[in-house]
Order: sequence, then structure tokens, then C-alpha cells
Amino acid sequence: MDDGLAPTEFSARPAWQTALAQAITRPADLLTALGIDPALPALDTERLRDFPIRVPHSFIARMRRGDAQDPLFRQVWPSNQEAEDVPGFTADAVGDLHKLKTGGVIHKYHGRALVIATGACAVNCRYCFRRHFPYGDTMAARGQWRETLVALDADPSIEEVILSGGDPLALTDDKLAAFAEALESRPWIRRLRLHTRVPVVLPARVDARLTAWLRASRLQKVVVLHINHANEIDDAVATACRDLRDAGVTLLNQAVLLRGINDATEDQVKLSERLFSVGILPYYLHVLDRVSGAAHFDVSDKHAQSIMQGLAARLPGYLVPRLVREIAGEPAKTLLPW
Ligand SMILES: *Cc1c(COP(=O)(O)O)cnc(C)c1O
Ligand code: SF4
Repeated sequence: MDDGLAPTEFSARPAWQTALAQAITRPADLLTALGIDPALPALDTERLRDFPIRVPHSFIARMRRGDAQDPLFRQVWPSNQEAEDVPGFTADAVGDLHKLKTGGVIHKYHGRALVIATGACAVNCRYCFRRHFPYGDTMAARGQWRETLVALDADPSIEEVILSGGDPLALTDDKLAAFAEALESRPWIRRLRLHTRVPVVLPARVDARLTAWLRASRLQKVVVLHINHANEIDDAVATACRDLRDAGVTLLNQAVLLRGINDATEDQVKLSERLFSVGILPYYLHVLDRVSGAAHFDVSDKHAQSIMQGLAARLPGYLVPRLVREIAGEPAKTLLPW
């Protein structure tokens, strides 16, 4: 008898991988799916090849039809403004390339090391500071994590390992569970953190395989999600968050402040309230990293500070994120005063 929990459940290809493979990868297909004017100016094909469009259907379903100003659509639409060369916007805006060790390890801050697990993402966000990152040599998961573990073992002050990318949840659970097991055998490592946008754009990723190894791990687990707008949280995302919390995961959020997308105080109030309603605490609000191709998303520091003042006047302190900027060479993210 098949009770739905037989071992065969774990042998088939997970549904999320099929959904990921079906993500939209051509601008025209996105416009068609949303009923938006096909003449909307897009980035030229050559530049698009360097950083293609990628959007899962489950994310598109949360966009308003026929609205080119939709805050979710604008995060993924390759506008022709990306071709503009704006002074001050460069390829390695946060100085990560100088810090990268073999095994994909970036150890910039005390006690915690970030691992570039994979270059893949479930969605390509047009403002992404890693859009020019040369991932080829750095994917930690590729060599069974061997080089990553060697690099981590070289410094036992590292108590927390942060899987980032790309997006670590683009990797299979076999790969991730193997890494978690290796960390568990190192008694000085206490926390495993995942920086991911996958449960948001593809909530089906949070399935029984993922929650099984998370729940089983002795490590303290933190998932830092990346949600920029309240509309990104639908019922499926709420369920994914509940399942992660049931597996013993602490949920935090980091957002990026984006012009025309979430740069009104009201947008941020709604975001914080919606996050908390599904069990996520706001953690960081990042001002944009000055990466070339993303200048049209930039919000001035002055405006960012006025949004923070508006938030603090409206919300309990635990729903006010920290406004931060990534500055190369600093021992932590830099808090912006407001
Ligand atoms: C952001 C970041 C971290 C994590 O910083 P927290 O303040 O602990 O969230 C760690 N390492 C690197 C390289 C980072 O960029
Ligand atoms: S999911 Fe994160 S790493 Fe991937 S494109 Fe978006 S912002 Fe960049």
C-alpha cells in the first residue's frame, strides 16, 4: 500500500526542479504572460546574454496583469535603462572579489563566513549586486564541498556558516544535507544560515525533503529571506514559512530599497507588517549596491533616511529593519544613521 510516505516519495525528481526548469527566460514571454504591451523597451540581446531574464511562473502569478509599473514585474524586467553607463556604478560594487578564497569562502566578518554555494538563482533580480560576479571558479558545491571545508577548518573562530550565492536553495537537498552533516561533525560550528530568495519566488522548494534535513540537524538554523514588497507574500509563501518554522528555523528578511518599487514609507510599513504576519522579522534594509546596470533603481540616502523616520513613527521597534550599506573593508555592514 502506498500511504504517500513510502520511500519512493523521495526518489522522483522533486516538483520544484520541474517548476524551476519551466521558468520564463525570454522577455517577450513575460510580456505575453502578463498582457503587457510587447513594445515595452527592453535591454539589447547582447547585454541580456550576460545576465538573462529568469522568472518562475509562481512569481509571475503574483504580478498585476497589464501593469508595467507592478512592483514585482519591475524587479525582474530587463529595462533598456540597464545599458546606461552611470559614473560611480561599477562591476564589483562591494569588493567581494578581493576576499574570495578557494572553496567559495568569503570571510570578511568575525565568527561567520559566507560561502558562495552556487551561481544559480531561481530568479534574476535586475538590481543584483552579483550580476557581474565571475562564478565559474567559485562554486563550492561542485567539488563535494571539500575545498570549502578545508578553508573553514583553517579558522576555528568561524561558528556560523552562511550559504549564499547565487541561491543555495537552487542546489539539491542531497548536496545541502551532505554539507550540513559535515558541519555537524565540527563541534565548534553552531549555526547554519541560508541567504535565499527561492522560498519566495518558488515556494514549492520548501518540501518534505528540505524540512527533513533541516529538522534533523543539531545546528541552529537561520534563513534570511529576500522579500522587497508585501505583494511577494501570497498563501503559498506563508505556508512555506510555516513549514520552515516548524522545522526549527528562525526567519529573517533582508530587502533592498528600490526606486519606484518599495521607496514609499507606506510600502515599507506594509512589508514589515506582512512579514511578521507570516513569522518573519525584518532584519536589513539595504541601500542599493552601486553596481553597473542598476543605477535606475537608486534611492538617495536622504530619501532612505526619511523613510526610516516614517517607519519608526508607525511601527514597533522590532518591525523596523536596520538601514545598511555594504562598504568594502569594513568589519560589518555599515548602519546608516537617520
Ligand atoms: C553580509 C555578510 C555577512 C553577514 O553579515 P551579518 O551582519 O551577520 O548579517 C557575512 N559575510 C559577508 C561576506 C557578508 O557580506
Ligand atoms: S536571488 Fe539574490 S543573488 Fe539571485 S539574482 Fe536575485 S538578488 Fe541576486
